[in-house]
Amino acid sequence: MSDNHFPVPNGTLPFWRTEPHVLDNHRSSDTLPEMSEIVIIGAGYAGASVAHHIMGQVNPDSSPPSITILEARQACSGATARNGGHMKPDIYNFIASLAADYGVDTAAEVAEFEAKHVHAFKDFVEKENIDCDYIVTQAIDVQFDREHCRKLKDGFQRLVADGCATTKRGHFTDADNAEEFSGVKGAVGCFSYDSGHIWAYKFVLHLLEKLVSQGVNLQTHTPVLNITKENSPGLRNSWRVDTERGPILASTVVLATNAYTSSLVPQYQGKIVPVRGTCCRIAVPPGSKVSQLTRTYTLRWNEWDFDYLIPRGDGSIVVGGARSVFIHDRDSWYNVSDDSRVLKSAVHYFDGYMQRNFDGWEDSDAYIDRVWTGIMGYSSDGLPHIGTVPGQEGLLVLAGFTGHGMPQIFLAAEGVAKMIVDRVAFEETELPRLFKTTQIRLNNPKSNILKKTPIAGSSEANLGKL
Ligand SMILES: Cc1cc2nc3c(=O)[nH]c(=O)nc-3n(C[C@H](O)[C@H](O)[C@H](O)COP(=O)(O)OP(=O)(O)OC[C@H]3O[C@@H](n4cnc5c(N)ncnc54)[C@H](O)[C@@H]3O)c2cc1C
Repeated sequence: MSDNHFPVPNGTLPFWRTEPHVLDNHRSSDTLPEMSEIVIIGAGYAGASVAHHIMGQVNPDSSPPSITILEARQACSGATARNGGHMKPDIYNFIASLAADYGVDTAAEVAEFEAKHVHAFKDFVEKENIDCDYIVTQAIDVQFDREHCRKLKDGFQRLVADGCATTKRGHFTDADNAEEFSGVKGAVGCFSYDSGHIWAYKFVLHLLEKLVSQGVNLQTHTPVLNITKENSPGLRNSWRVDTERGPILASTVVLATNAYTSSLVPQYQGKIVPVRGTCCRIAVPPGSKVSQLTRTYTLRWNEWDFDYLIPRGDGSIVVGGARSVFIHDRDSWYNVSDDSRVLKSAVHYFDGYMQRNFDGWEDSDAYIDRVWTGIMGYSSDGLPHIGTVPGQEGLLVLAGFTGHGMPQIFLAAEGVAKMIVDRVAFEETELPRLFKTTQIRLNNPKSNILKKTPIAGSSEANLGKL
């Protein structure tokens, strides 16, 4: 299996990229600058958010640092433009495992940080008047497996009893009322709490447009091939960033490369693994008599099998998942960075999806409008890697969001910007301590990525090396 993961040039076309922004293929200059104080690699949600926060945090009386954003393909063409659009914090599921492993206070930091995104985002989108269809609503996590639901409920109740304020804001609906509450056939329990949904491509392009107008140099179609430490008299740390279009010297380099991070920094091999995900858009013919969904959903069949979906203002639905049809074929999804093809089995999985699962949708004639794939960066311990790459001053990382970056990245980027602008340590930001990238995490040979799947069980699976 190759560990050489770079974005392929011809990714599938997701719904979210069907209205390309004027900056989609933008290059601020014909040639690359020889030197830039800050180079950010990756123009997705993470890269654009870091640049946005840096520009917002510099002292208005001094001139801002030179920033160059290097993107291998079009602007925002990675996971951010291929996702489910779900801004859904975790308040009880992975949080309960974190509480068991690290204590409730440490887990509560993560829960609070994620939940903060939902309303902070609303405030920011309103303040900046960003046209990105951001809606705050309720997430309904529908459970189909009684035993798994019982385990989740135990974890939920334990967090509440232990004082986790974020979990307390959630609600559990039991088997007697779950179908009626959720509108989902066969529901045996539901957890509900605040969440949002968004057209993330539009959000990122708004940030990039503002950044370009502020003098940030955006270079699309510029894959970075290599990063090396270099002694340059003109710069504080000095990194050499080699691209297909020549080198750039920088004092600070930010890896906003999510799934592809380990190809540039081998320390992340096996720690951030590219995982292929599938999403689709389901449309409803005009005049169809269905009561439109207003809430977001996760439909969870068991510990490893779940789908997630959001309603859109135009009456369509974006659904992601379909894990049950490809999970046994490990090579089709694990350690895969090619988003240029869609798995046939996944396409058929979504046939009749709304009719099968939602009350009142049986005669809707809802149909699949488009299916696409995207590459997620799964971290071996399920937590993102944020901060200075151990032992590499001036090289920072913001990656490994494990298919769950929407409620983590914007405020994580604010913390990374603080580390760069104010030169403070990770501990002086407000980031959850578990998110810090550390040598201890990089040295840990264990991996959970394959552990919670039906192909788990072997020692190789636990090491993420199947
Ligand atoms: C199918 C799918 C569904 C998802 N659904 C959800 C969801 O509903 N909710 C949720 O919270 N999260 C979801 N996610 C995850 C979420 O989209 C990510 O966590 C988030 O978008 C990551 O943002 P990013 O900027 O770190 O990565 P990306 O958006 O992938 O951006 C990284 C960028 O770096 C560029 N790059 C990489 N290597 C190089 C290089 N060598 N040189 C130059 N450029 C490079 C890439 O081209 C890419 O544009 C989903 C992901 C997928 C794929």
